[in-house]
Amino acid sequence: MDVTTKGMVLRANDYKENDKLILLYSLEYGKITVCAKGIRKNNAKLKFAADQFCFGQYELSKTDERYTLKTCEQLDSFFALREDVCVYYAACTIAESIMNYTEEGQAEPEVFVEMLRAFSTLIDSVEPLLVSLKFLLDFMKLQGLELQFDSCMVCGDTDKKKYLDLQRGGIVCDSCRTVRNLPVSARTIAVCKMVQSMPYDRLKNLNFTAESLKDALHICYNYISHSFSPLKSLGELLKL
Ligand SMILES: [Zn+2]
Repeated sequence: MDVTTKGMVLRANDYKENDKLILLYSLEYGKITVCAKGIRKNNAKLKFAADQFCFGQYELSKTDERYTLKTCEQLDSFFALREDVCVYYAACTIAESIMNYTEEGQAEPEVFVEMLRAFSTLIDSVEPLLVSLKFLLDFMKLQGLELQFDSCMVCGDTDKKKYLDLQRGGIVCDSCRTVRNLPVSARTIAVCKMVQSMPYDRLKNLNFTAESLKDALHICYNYISHSFSPLKSLGELLKL
């Protein structure tokens, strides 16, 4: 059976002598593995279809649950994502979130749209730390794990000093915290709330320091690492 889908290459690995296995995030089928036969031969016409962050209309043949690449019409190469090291690690953070935390073969159109918006915003030269933060906060919400910053998750207090409770997925106050909860500054909470509420096309108007954005990203990193495996690309981005 032949199927057609819009898709983004998250990763591609060499396979056998001349093939590649592409991890494609597709609009219609979610995360799928596609075998691209003969794509590493010198004269292969579809080489571009396995490039990381290639966005295209993919035509695939499907046998049982296995997909093979037939052809691809490129819609955007997103090549600029690979030209700057910070932009690259931000794009990898987004790709790795989808690779690690979405189900194989399960379409999630909202995540797909979120990914495209985030990549386009990175291409528009918006601060990569800011775009990563926006994507992670929204992505966690779409996965049912929205971080809560409004008030203490136990008593509802809004005034006392705040701590992050990874178990509850939000902030707790000085009176309700346990010894494991780490303090979070009011500035970091303000950054997260502002970014949560701001659409992608208005992010360029925000002007936070790299330090504030990294503090906010550390919260996402700790939260994700607590629930799942850590995001390696985000760890690299935070070190830059
Ligand atoms: Zn409290």
